[in-house]
Amino acid sequence: MGGISVIFKSINLLFMLKDLLHFLFPKSCPGCSILLLTHEVLLCTVCRATLPFTHQHQSATNEALGKFYGKVKIQQASCLLYYAKGGLVSNLLHQLKYNNQPSIAFVLGQLYAELLADDQAFPSVDYIVSVPLHPKKLKQRGYNQVDGFATALSQHFQIPIHSSVLAKVERTASQTTKSFQERIKSKPAVFQLQSTPNLAGKHFLLLDDILTTGSTLENCAKLLLQIPDSKVSILCLAYTK
Ligand SMILES: [Zn+2]
Repeated sequence: MGGISVIFKSINLLFMLKDLLHFLFPKSCPGCSILLLTHEVLLCTVCRATLPFTHQHQSATNEALGKFYGKVKIQQASCLLYYAKGGLVSNLLHQLKYNNQPSIAFVLGQLYAELLADDQAFPSVDYIVSVPLHPKKLKQRGYNQVDGFATALSQHFQIPIHSSVLAKVERTASQTTKSFQERIKSKPAVFQLQSTPNLAGKHFLLLDDILTTGSTLENCAKLLLQIPDSKVSILCLAYTK
């Protein structure tokens, strides 16, 4: 009996400690800024209940995949949420990218993993690859905002993350002949295919935070498809029309 009461006391103590920490360091919801209750994880109950899911993964020929038609061959593509300027998802992505909250991508990634698993829609891939961030930006932000998403999917589906196959590098050579204004206009960094041994025939799952025009993902996919017999599928946290 003594042992059990010690365990109960320890559990009680842990709950009290959690409440105390919550009281001392209250967290706010990144979707609507109200203070979170102790049982709420990352998002408040209202934001969680109003997340605008796309359900794109339920259709093999959806609007996300449509963005790549005629440009690059993608096996499957879908995004978790609809993005609207000034809306809930826009707030979440802003907090994720500019307010040191990488856990937002992890929590949304867990949510996506559960949906994909329930609908048996997770592509049969060999590696998960985040769209890389430029080293300068990585240093500035301290994290790649897509990595939490990659970790959540990797843990849920037991698929390894390949973090060195793609890199973002400074644009050089031909760029130097352009004027400063031209260089600013034509984005200063490009993607590069890095080491590719033993990657022939592999299916890559490319991840990004948001699918807008699709040009970043298209560029990365084209590089991955230079690997012999490779395939690419795409998942993003948010989608804009
Ligand atoms: Zn909220």
